[in-house]
Amino acid sequence: MRLAVLKEHAPGETRVAATPETVKKFIGLGASLAVESGAGANASIDDEAYREAGAEVGDRASVVKGADILLGIQAPDVADLAGAKPGAWVAALFDPFMAKDRVDAYAKAGFEALSMEFMPRITRAQSMDVLSSQSNLAGYKAVVSAANVFGKAFPMMMTAAGTVQAAKAFVMGVGVAGLQAIATAKRVGAQVSATDVRSATKEQIKSLGAKPIFVESVAGIEGEGSGGYATEMSEEYQKAQAELVSAHIAKQDIVITTALIPGRAAPRLISDAQIATMKPGSVIFDLAVAQGGNVEGSVADQIVEKHGVKIMGFSNTPAHLAADASALFSRNHFNFLSAFWDKEAGRPILDDEIGNAVRLTQGGKVVNERLTGEA
Ligand code: NAD
Repeated sequence: MRLAVLKEHAPGETRVAATPETVKKFIGLGASLAVESGAGANASIDDEAYREAGAEVGDRASVVKGADILLGIQAPDVADLAGAKPGAWVAALFDPFMAKDRVDAYAKAGFEALSMEFMPRITRAQSMDVLSSQSNLAGYKAVVSAANVFGKAFPMMMTAAGTVQAAKAFVMGVGVAGLQAIATAKRVGAQVSATDVRSATKEQIKSLGAKPIFVESVAGIEGEGSGGYATEMSEEYQKAQAELVSAHIAKQDIVITTALIPGRAAPRLISDAQIATMKPGSVIFDLAVAQGGNVEGSVADQIVEKHGVKIMGFSNTPAHLAADASALFSRNHFNFLSAFWDKEAGRPILDDEIGNAVRLTQGGKVVNERLTGEA
């Protein structure tokens, strides 16, 4: 079983899909590993470290040649897979709802695309879940990046020259990224509040020592819903939420927005009129900027100043923590494939629950129910 790791080509992508640690672990299972030269450079891993771990390091063509499984962060173009075994697996992020042409191209070329973002949110798949491992880092990075451009301190400080007030931080969307954003902002000393449409998050917010801010007049999402994801809210809810947010954000120094709805553009949570009510010098970090943005006027990878408020967000936040993001993503890949490793066959054999969830293409066809509309 030959595994190949390619250098990432997407603009701004700094991560790598295997580290020397996971290379050794895969070799321990009986696989051989080939890594494209320079694949780990942006994550501070040189070719020598991969060689020492037991991988063969070479150019793209030699690495892909004869590969049974290719590991990526972002799915490579099909053109880059020439020479891989027919029916080879490619495990990576496919952005399946948006990048439909790429999924079709994989089907046509006869490869099996395994979409890591479609990993089911079930207990036994937690260690394989790249959305969680990467969102957690993104939530942290959003807070420290906002702190970096904020002209004031986060913690309260009593000094001989007088008192510095603690910053007020508000987190909108309390999934994995939001929870980490709350925890980080608390650690740095801010007074933190947070909101979500899922009422199940209220207790989580409180348990981190932050204040929940919730629409009470219109029902939100009671439990964890389908896979724990949010859905698009009613117009009545959106109106009540806008009023609540308007009253609250005018008093905030830092706002971190993280709200996403799978398969749809990110919901708009903050309008330009609301930004105008904020104090000059406040900072908004829009973690959903690459999915259309939660904040009116946010632009990926830029700091936009509106009404004296700085609005920022990265197109690829985990890529700003290349080493840790690579280490966790690589472990997710290893945990996924090793959980299904069949010793006799010398290869992984996926079960139906996880296999059907992540597999996008097989036997020349798009087979995933979430894409074929059968789900
Ligand atoms: P996400 O990235 O899809 O969304 C971020 C948050 O934004 C969510 O909490 C969502 O409810 C919220 N949101 C959406 N629309 C909103 C709006 N209009 N206003 C305010 N907030 C809004 O979320 P995620 O981090 O991927 O987590 C989704 C769910 O999956 C959660 O229930 C989480 O606990 C669960 N989860 C389970 C596992 C597991 O069991 N393996 C792992 C990770 C997450």
